[in-house]
Amino acid sequence: MRKNELASVFQAMDHDRKGKLTKDRILESLSNAGILSNDVRLSALLRRMEVAGGSLFGLKTFGSLLDSCESLISRAVRGELVIPEFQAFSESLKNIYDETRHDADGAVASYIPQLARVPADNFAVAVSTIDGQQCVIGDADYNFTLQSSCKPLLYAAALEELGVEKVHSHVGREPSGLSFNELSLNKDGLPHNPMINAGAIMTSSLIRRGCSSADRLEYLHNLVKTLSAGVTPNFNTAVWHSERETADRNFALAHHMREHGAFPEGTQIVPTLDYYFSACSMEVTARTMSTIGATFANGGVCPSTGDKVFSEDTVKNTLSMMYSCGMYDYSGEFAFTVGIPAKSAVSGVVLAIVPNVLSIAVWSPKLDSCGNSVRGVAFLKKLVERFSFHNYDGLVESKKSDPRRRSAVVATDQTYQAIYAASVGDTNELKRLVARGHDLNTADYDGRTPLHLAAAEGQIEVVRFLMRHKVHTEPKDRWGFRPIDDAKRHKRNAVIEELSRMAA
Ligand code: GLU
Repeated sequence: MRKNELASVFQAMDHDRKGKLTKDRILESLSNAGILSNDVRLSALLRRMEVAGGSLFGLKTFGSLLDSCESLISRAVRGELVIPEFQAFSESLKNIYDETRHDADGAVASYIPQLARVPADNFAVAVSTIDGQQCVIGDADYNFTLQSSCKPLLYAAALEELGVEKVHSHVGREPSGLSFNELSLNKDGLPHNPMINAGAIMTSSLIRRGCSSADRLEYLHNLVKTLSAGVTPNFNTAVWHSERETADRNFALAHHMREHGAFPEGTQIVPTLDYYFSACSMEVTARTMSTIGATFANGGVCPSTGDKVFSEDTVKNTLSMMYSCGMYDYSGEFAFTVGIPAKSAVSGVVLAIVPNVLSIAVWSPKLDSCGNSVRGVAFLKKLVERFSFHNYDGLVESKKSDPRRRSAVVATDQTYQAIYAASVGDTNELKRLVARGHDLNTADYDGRTPLHLAAAEGQIEVVRFLMRHKVHTEPKDRWGFRPIDDAKRHKRNAVIEELSRMAA
């Protein structure tokens, strides 16, 4: 970080102008910006603060603590994350939560005893942004089973592996207008869409067909783990057995599909259904669920690890299906009034995703007559009354507030973020920018590109990263200097070697 930038970040944290920061003060400033201390990107900082021993950090020590999370911290403190006023935004979420919690209508799912026994009045809201900002309210660390909220994951996994053509040669993409477990297929003899039971049984049959059941299951666990920045999901064995024992309809659906030749050849019904029940029986918390959603909101890249889990196309297709088919027999009405892609489940979770901004997981087990969480729907309705998150809000003038940063600002910022990240060796940040469609060749006003800065600062890992992303190797800045000239001027031998090798 440049000296004056470091100083301004320090000052922004040092409210009482003591010239020293405590660990608590640092973490509080970050948490005000929505970056919580359990964020994996902060783990190195936390470790270094521990090692540094002393409890008060002056400017110089502070600078040495930051290292690879510099750009995150700088952006967080300067209000440059996607929701800049995160505290105010969180306050509004809490208000909506309080307004919604009194709604005691609905009944918990009772088709299996395990669901009938969940604490009916629990209520959690968790929001995660594409910059990894997080706000959790209520019972956000209580586990619930994925149930139908596994359907977008199964669909996305199948798309990622097999592509849209193959997947949709086995499942349609039209709302059925019928109940989620209706014994009905479309005119081609295929399940109507992947968000209803028949469709999810189908996608369950498509994933990793060549692998053993154990490996297929492990794949699913790892998928959830990668989507959620490393949280291992629980598995509720009792729910799995219950699902299996009461699954006459799901067996009927599978046989009906097999009778119509809908499955790929050689599909076995029992292992396929077992796989679907396993996906339904995985458990996460609302906090974890919102991180999973944020990976979708962020175009398939996990905001805090930078792992690319799904392609943009997979995400786009999955969100489209959620938008038209994700809320049972309320899907059209929900798309109309709330206007956010969402998937709900009988366990009482609703996962909603505002692309390029954030995801919201609301969990409250009491369901309405359509099978959607009563408080989940109520919360999301109130949310879009207050904030312009409806897909088509941009078209109308309204009094709703928009908590996100303006896009012109975002575009210029991305250029500077990329250049800055390159200069400090933050490849994770670069990965995220690429995932958001940023072109790493973009230069600033002076014609300086990320490669110039990485070369000048001797950030060899970044140089290699940029080479892998096939950026132009010899862009000239306004003074006519190429990255290799910068590397030579600053005697960055490893970089010189790498760049000469590429040029050759
Ligand atoms: N396991 C449930 C079933 O297949 C999922 C129901 C749901 O959440 O919609 O019936």
